[in-house]
Amino acid sequence: MCGIVGFTGQENALPILMRGLYSLEYRGYDSAGIAAFTEDGLKVIKTKGRISNLEEKLRGEGSFSSTCGIGHTRWATHGGPSDRNSHPHLGGRDGKVAVVHNGIIENYLFLRGQLEKHGYVFQSETDTETVAHLIDYLHTGRQEDLAQTVLKALSLLRGSYALGVVSMDDSSEIVAARRDNPLIIGLGEGENMIASDITAIISRTRRYIILDDNEVAVVRPDRVTVYNQLGDVVDKPVQEVNWDLSAAEKGGYAHFMLKEIMEQPRAFSDTVRPRIQDGEIVFEDNGLTDERLREAGHIHLIACGSAYHAGMVGKAVIEELGRVRCSVSVASEFRYSNPIIREKDLCIVISQSGETADSLAALRQAQRAGAFTLAVVNVVSSTIAREADGVLYTWAGPEIAVATTKAYSAQLAALYLIAAKVAKARGLLDRQTERELCGALLQLPDSIREMLEQIKTVQYLASKYANRSSVFYLGRGLDYAAAMEASLKLKEISYVHSEAYAAGELKHGTISLIEEGTLVVALATQRHLYEKTVSNIREVTARGAEVVLIAAEDFDGDVSACKNVIRLPACMERFAASLSIIPMQLFAYYVAVERSCDVDKPRNLAKSVTVE
Ligand code: GLU
Repeated sequence: MCGIVGFTGQENALPILMRGLYSLEYRGYDSAGIAAFTEDGLKVIKTKGRISNLEEKLRGEGSFSSTCGIGHTRWATHGGPSDRNSHPHLGGRDGKVAVVHNGIIENYLFLRGQLEKHGYVFQSETDTETVAHLIDYLHTGRQEDLAQTVLKALSLLRGSYALGVVSMDDSSEIVAARRDNPLIIGLGEGENMIASDITAIISRTRRYIILDDNEVAVVRPDRVTVYNQLGDVVDKPVQEVNWDLSAAEKGGYAHFMLKEIMEQPRAFSDTVRPRIQDGEIVFEDNGLTDERLREAGHIHLIACGSAYHAGMVGKAVIEELGRVRCSVSVASEFRYSNPIIREKDLCIVISQSGETADSLAALRQAQRAGAFTLAVVNVVSSTIAREADGVLYTWAGPEIAVATTKAYSAQLAALYLIAAKVAKARGLLDRQTERELCGALLQLPDSIREMLEQIKTVQYLASKYANRSSVFYLGRGLDYAAAMEASLKLKEISYVHSEAYAAGELKHGTISLIEEGTLVVALATQRHLYEKTVSNIREVTARGAEVVLIAAEDFDGDVSACKNVIRLPACMERFAASLSIIPMQLFAYYVAVERSCDVDKPRNLAKSVTVE
């Protein structure tokens, strides 16, 4: 949520900050702003709306340049999107301090009250402005450097934050801090940066440091110093970005989402291929030992949004192959449900960004209960990856569109691998079957490619149904899990209301919503459920619904009642969700395009949900 960028060096910081903000815009896009040192002091330009609005405003300011500044793109939590609530926020009566913030300060009302008593006047409704004034209050009249003051201020804050702070004291210094929100420091030659993620620094450097919780960094053009909570200097390992700038660019596609949909065969393959050797699943050293998998009494899958839907598929496949009790929970519910976690349990936390606040909290809870935690995440060295006992990376590459597609596919891939591993450890997978499973997994990218070839059919269906006000997705078992994801995709980006229903459940109430012309997308990829699903299709067509059916290659039920049928290529049934989701992602995409929606940046949403 929200993007932070900062630059200090020799060149003009403004274009660098703007480029950084554009690349971070997917993280939040309610409003944007920058603060930069100029000859006349600290200049703040900010506005409600997109980065392009900020660029326009900046142009209106005439030419000025600066070699140090901070920028922000906001996803509002406290106070609606407005010019005033946009970051950076100035602290102090004379605005000597500027702050950008990602996260939530939970005790901001208390602090605000105290600061008001000291004469501070607030311009915005945000929690962030409290931090700016607090720093000014603690700094004024004291002979200490900004970093020391920031450390003091942090000890008074409750909640989560990534912060970028600049002060008139030193016009080439940025102080950065974090707790439960990501922040990295990009290391250049005679210049350094701070950023919420790599996309904002990669055009200038591939080397970076990850700031850890409760650390404060002092960033200057020629050096970066990181302090821990006690004010001691800490030695930080330098990391290197392992992907190219082109991976974070559209590469000729109209939208990132379409590009990422098309990249799914590669994402799936990159996740699976390195872990299959001679027909055997071989994991990197991630702590998933046979003993641990054998003795796990319960596997908890914990996630949010699409990752939760991937978890639903994972649960079904792990239980089917591994015969171990498995539950899948929404992280924000799990953490407050007083969950029963035992020492030998295995907790798998699934998150694209590896920064999802609720999932991180659930992970810590599982660790406190003594369970082994495994992260299935896409972003290397993200917080969840670093804090979990083991990691199984999904190798989808950077995902920019807010609505996930390729990371979801890669999560399915990782969960299939885990399911097979669990089965093997528990003595339920003989060599031959393992070989067959591996063969099927290696074959899936080609089958995904075949599904993608149906793009024209799906585009036609999208144009036909784009004006519907409501869509239903029906399926049983694994098809229900895929239906949930399909429905979320449509809602997220096209704003068309939709519901996913377990096909047998509709008649227990929701069927009352079916009327003449209602679009129902039905899924039938599980052989033992074909007949049941056909009955459910009949129930809705009898009430006027128009049905698009997504069916397995060998589906032999009566399709005469369906308007269109999309077939899957032959595949192992247990992996069918990886194929059936493809046309449904494309459908959501093209409906959104037909409806002129902002596909990559849907309203109210943001990538990487780092607040509760
Ligand atoms: N809580 C802050 C605000 O509402 C920061 C939100 C963000 O992370 O963008 O302004």
